[in-house]
Amino acid sequence: MAEQKTTHPQSGKTHKIVITIWALGPLLVFPFALYRAVKTRRIGRKVVLTTLIGYVLTGQGITLGYHRLATHESFKVPRLLKGLILGVGSAAAQGPVITWVDNHRRHHIHADQPGDPHSPHADFGEGWKESFKGFLHAHIFWLFEDPPKDFGRYTKRLREDKVVAWVDRTFVWWVGAGLALPALIAGWPGFIWGGVIRMLLVNHSTFAVNSICHMFGSRRFNTKDESRNNIFIAMLTGGEGNHNNHHANAKAAYHGLTWREYDLTGYVIRGLKAVGLATDVYEPTPEEIAARQAQLDRQAAREQAQAEAATELPSLTAVAPATNPERELVAAGVVPEAMSADD
Ligand SMILES: [Zn+2]
Ligand SMILES: [Zn+2]
Repeated sequence: MAEQKTTHPQSGKTHKIVITIWALGPLLVFPFALYRAVKTRRIGRKVVLTTLIGYVLTGQGITLGYHRLATHESFKVPRLLKGLILGVGSAAAQGPVITWVDNHRRHHIHADQPGDPHSPHADFGEGWKESFKGFLHAHIFWLFEDPPKDFGRYTKRLREDKVVAWVDRTFVWWVGAGLALPALIAGWPGFIWGGVIRMLLVNHSTFAVNSICHMFGSRRFNTKDESRNNIFIAMLTGGEGNHNNHHANAKAAYHGLTWREYDLTGYVIRGLKAVGLATDVYEPTPEEIAARQAQLDRQAAREQAQAEAATELPSLTAVAPATNPERELVAAGVVPEAMSADD
């Protein structure tokens, strides 16, 4: 299939100015809006509803759309619905979908190793100062760095997908609609709360998955990376805080493995499946999950033994063979096997 016209991540001074305004603007607006709301003791019901609905919808656009549908191909939906979900995700203003997917697939392939775009650990040392620097890098500062030289390596099929490419190209229009719609519904306060502040809240809860969920929380699986399950972040992100579960079984549609592991996005996928809109939902069986857990435990024990032996024997550096990016994604468990090009 032919490659479609898509965006390419920018670098350079102008881009850095745009990112700075995007990162700082809502942060500066928030305390003023909050102060005003507290002082006047009045924030309209319409404004509150617009903000809440906007938060849930654009949050789902990211978790359901950008993450589980586009990045991990955990399920399929009809093309029109796919476009709509990814469009709503674009309104969160976390960048065009193909750039987001390319970054996130790299994160899984190199999790907490060099090559991971937003690890709080890979390029940082010991001690609280380094940890704090790592946290800030993983949370937001990685976005100021230049894109990887081989950008697009992990998104070939997405760039051939007409619907995804169209949503990617029209990214700024979706962001604009996400600001204009609350303004139309609830006026100037609607723009501030339902547009700008909603963006801030959704974005920082997503960023917390990259920062907090690689530093604080529990580990159900002995994954090679530092991913953690954090229920607080799961509540804010529709289930994405079950991040250690996710790193252990990246292509799985459901991130909560028990009812205690809150996973709103998982319930949305179940709902879409029940009405026939989601198909090919990838859901490992309890046996497969147990087998994966045992495999990760064995791997960890082997690596521990190797690390101990390495202190006695001269080290042998393994050279990774050059691989096809599509095979690399399947081998790393990022996407299911045999996804066809046009869905
Ligand atoms: Zn992660
Ligand atoms: Zn993921």
